Amino acid sequence: MSVVSLDSFSGAPAEFHPVGIARHDWTREEIRALFALPFPDLIFQAQTVHRANFDPTQVQISTLLSIKTGGCPEDCAYCPQSSAYETGLKAEKLMDVEAVLEEARAAKAAGASRFCMGAAWRSPKDRDLDKVCAMVEGVKALGMESCVTLGMLTRPQADRLKGAGLDYYNHNLDTSPEFYGDIISTRTYQDRLDTLETVREAGINVCCGGIVGMGEGQEDRVGMVHALATLPSHPESVPINMLVQVEGTPLAGEGRLDAFDFVRTIAVARITMPESMVRLSAGREDMTDEVQALCLLAGANSIFYGPKLLTTPNPAQDRDMRLLEKLGMAPMPL
Ligand code: SF4
Repeated sequence: MSVVSLDSFSGAPAEFHPVGIARHDWTREEIRALFALPFPDLIFQAQTVHRANFDPTQVQISTLLSIKTGGCPEDCAYCPQSSAYETGLKAEKLMDVEAVLEEARAAKAAGASRFCMGAAWRSPKDRDLDKVCAMVEGVKALGMESCVTLGMLTRPQADRLKGAGLDYYNHNLDTSPEFYGDIISTRTYQDRLDTLETVREAGINVCCGGIVGMGEGQEDRVGMVHALATLPSHPESVPINMLVQVEGTPLAGEGRLDAFDFVRTIAVARITMPESMVRLSAGREDMTDEVQALCLLAGANSIFYGPKLLTTPNPAQDRDMRLLEKLGMAPMPL
């Protein structure tokens, strides 16, 4: 019996590494070629890479809580929490530590292994950090992984969070460097890269991904994955979000991205960042079970769980569990 390699089916360049050795020298051309693969070949490569690095029947589950909602001075065009847009969202103060820990206990009881806390800040004030550090310590004491997203960080702030036991810091690149200026004007792409470097240097794991469906072109999705996959270290978590359109934000009314383009983005992220957890993030509420299953087949192995993602709806927990059961999949143990 002769063995035919994937490359002879797909015509993909021979230098592709289908078994998923982590590389940081991806070129845009290579990533463009992955996006252009016939769908069955792309999914096969993504599956091959996924299975070389993970148990494909397991999904890591995170819960996200907004600990400080709205009133943000940044102008991210997709975000209802920006004070630049009239979305009817009521700005709230930073939550009390005990109220946050109560949510963390509930998340753990529902099966989450990681508790993520998001605050709508450009950057945290040092006095706010006292409370956030207490939240991180409390989440750790529950035996869960902790993650926060607080905006731009200085090195001393990152060191304090690390000292409190923080496992992950989320800071997304959002999109390609070229399209970025259409989405955010109040901080630069370089600001984001600098924060990622600060977090890395403090020894905190990085959660960094982006959003698709914002009116970007295919080349921007190529550019976004390229920016992530060529970071000096791949983010340990790579959330890929589908835009949730919120009335009052500049991106409300944007044409919807074809679901297959979303699945392709997941698959290319999986292939180019083989050891990262690729997270199916915002936008799941509007996806059918079948599209979500395709995303899991394309190499997504992490989901957000819970009724809300910061301020936008997320599928009910029992719908998520039913889907995992139907697929013979299970939550990843901590
Ligand atoms: S995405 Fe974050 S930084 Fe941007 S406006 Fe929303 S809360 Fe602020």
